[in-house]
Amino acid sequence: MSSVEQNLVEGNKAYAEKFTQGNLALPPSQKYVVVTCMDARIDPAAAFNIPLGAAHIIRNAGGSAREAFRSLVISQQLLGTTDVLIIKHTGCGMLTFDNATARGVVAKNKGDAVAEEVKDLDFLTFPELEQAVKDDVQFLKSKKVEEGVQVSGWVYEVETGKVRKVE
Ligand SMILES: [Zn+2]
Repeated sequence: MSSVEQNLVEGNKAYAEKFTQGNLALPPSQKYVVVTCMDARIDPAAAFNIPLGAAHIIRNAGGSAREAFRSLVISQQLLGTTDVLIIKHTGCGMLTFDNATARGVVAKNKGDAVAEEVKDLDFLTFPELEQAVKDDVQFLKSKKVEEGVQVSGWVYEVETGKVRKVE
């Protein structure tokens, strides 16, 4: 077993021994969704005050609403959520490269033939943080399926642990 697997097994054993919340409902009790980045420095449940069972948390590189759209529609239409918080963050890796760079890295690491697999992939990077939050809010507001859903945009500061509203 790898050390990563071992960590899972051991940590989960301790967690399960104390686990008491096995009767939660499937739909999120507070009817909202957080879209945030996969960045390892963000602890959404703690930083954003989300009790177990209260909200959906959708994570991807950059906290992209575009990438999260499939899950958002499921969350809203099948599981009754009515609010979306888009929370991007300072120091995001997505501020540091673009599509051409990412494709170049793949080609360098894996060769040109393999890089073909990602030649049309949009990595959804962004050059400016606040603007990217606003763009994602507008992206959702432009979708008819999102009508009646409350959407707001936020920045989480990895340096301070604080959130601030952008839109
Ligand atoms: Zn990030």
